[in-house]
Amino acid sequence: MFWSVKKANMKTFLLRFGITLAVLIGLWFVFSRIPAKETFHSLAQGKFDEEKFGELAMDAVFMESKELKSDSIDFVMNKLVNRLSEGNLFPASKFHIHVVNNNEVNAFALPGNHVVVHSGLIYMCDNPEELLGVLAHEIAHLEKRHVYERMKTEGIITLIEGAVAQGGGATIATAVGELAGLAFSRDQESEADEVGFNFLMNANVRPNGMATLFRKMKEETLAGYTPEFMSTHPELESRALNIESKCAGLPNTFVPVMSAEEWENFQINLRLAL
Ligand SMILES: [Zn+2]
Repeated sequence: MFWSVKKANMKTFLLRFGITLAVLIGLWFVFSRIPAKETFHSLAQGKFDEEKFGELAMDAVFMESKELKSDSIDFVMNKLVNRLSEGNLFPASKFHIHVVNNNEVNAFALPGNHVVVHSGLIYMCDNPEELLGVLAHEIAHLEKRHVYERMKTEGIITLIEGAVAQGGGATIATAVGELAGLAFSRDQESEADEVGFNFLMNANVRPNGMATLFRKMKEETLAGYTPEFMSTHPELESRALNIESKCAGLPNTFVPVMSAEEWENFQINLRLAL
C-alpha cells in the first residue's frame, strides 16, 4: 500500500470484510449447484484463483466505501493509466482502478490487478503527476507480484485452499479478512518505489510527484492529523529523499499528463460524484 490504513478503521474494515464474506460464502453453499454462480466456481474447485478472490475482496471494499463513478472520473482515470502504460510493458486494460469515497489518505492494491484509490488521497494531490506517482507505486506492487507473495508468505493461500477443500466457509472468511491487514515488507515498498519511478520515467511523466506527495504526507503527520501514519512509516523521509535524489539533474523534457484546468475540473467532478 502507499501508506497504512488507520488502525481503528482497519478493525472496522476487517470486521465488515469478514461479515461480507461470511454472507457471500453462505450464499455460495446455498447456490453452489447453480452453474451461473461463476464467482465461486473456482473456489469450489479447492484452488486459489486470484481473479475470483480479487472480486470477493472488492465486494468487501465497496461495502466499506462507495465507488465513485462518472464519465468524467472514468475518463481521467483511464487517461492516467493509459499514459502510464506508454513505454511500459503492461497494457492499461490489465488494471482495474477504483476511486472510492473515503476521506482517509490511502491507496492499495488487491489480487486480480485491482487498485483502490481513496478520494481523500486524490484531494491531497495538487497535480496529476502526484496521483500518477501513487498509481505507478501500486501497479509496481502488482507487477512484481508482491500481493500474491505476501499472501503466500502469510499462509493465506494455503488456508483458503484447505478451507475450500473442506467446505469451511467461516475459515475462508477469516482468511480473506486477513488480506486487508497485510503489510508489505520494507524491501517490497522500496522496490515498488523504484519500479514505479521507472514506470513514470518510461512514460515520460515527471516523477517528482512521488516525492512531493511523500513530503505532504509527512507535513500532515507532523501537524498531528495522522499520527498513526508516522508510527507505521518511519521510512517516509528516506523514501522521499531517495526519489528526490533520483530526480536531481533530470532534464525537464517531460510531457505534462493534462492541463491544470483539466485537473481542477476532475477534482470538482469528484466532489460532485459524492
Ligand atoms: Zn506500497
